[in-house]
Amino acid sequence: MALMLPPGAKLVAATHNPGKARELSELLSGRFEVVSAGSLDLAEPDETETTFVGNALLKARAAAEASGLIALADDSGLSVTALDGAPGIYSARWAGPDRDFALAMSKLEERLEATGSDDRSAWFTCALAVAWPGGPAVVVEGRVDGGLVFPGRGTLGFGYDPIFVPEGHEATFGEMSPGLKDSMSHRARAFEMLRAALF
Ligand code: IMP
Repeated sequence: MALMLPPGAKLVAATHNPGKARELSELLSGRFEVVSAGSLDLAEPDETETTFVGNALLKARAAAEASGLIALADDSGLSVTALDGAPGIYSARWAGPDRDFALAMSKLEERLEATGSDDRSAWFTCALAVAWPGGPAVVVEGRVDGGLVFPGRGTLGFGYDPIFVPEGHEATFGEMSPGLKDSMSHRARAFEMLRAALF
């Protein structure tokens, strides 16, 4: 099939975040030679699309065109039902330039209270895109549903993990071991779909 990734191919992980680059290379588990967009000095495009899928594709396409390599990119975030899906694609931006997630979570709690709604349902989304230079692209989206709790609990994980309890569980993502979180997370589900689509 034309879109298969040949073993040993060189890929660029279209992220300047070293944690994400590591996560994306782990997904590819030694099958490919992975280089990061940061190490190739590629410019970071503005995330101008309005959906996770749109932004993941935009980042993958920009990195593929600039490097001439097959590129992999992701876009993810937390969406809250009572806030009409916010912060959504703006999840990272709510934490400000200092990436202060305590601030982002308290902003979220304030906005939720201001709605007067008692709906605390929310979901995480992760879009993953692979783009070939001058060629096609594949994009998938994984999602995990759950609810929000305030105050947050747990020091494991990152971002909004302390306030998110996945459906069917009592613990927040912040209280779960990485292995347990990975067994149900939006990112793990998207990775699974991408593996099925490409390998
Ligand atoms: P991106 O870098 O534009 O994809 O922004 C993703 C943002 O969404 C992160 O900075 C986190 O705030 C949030 N996010 C995405 N996935 C997770 C997760 O698994 N746990 C907690 N926060 C997450």
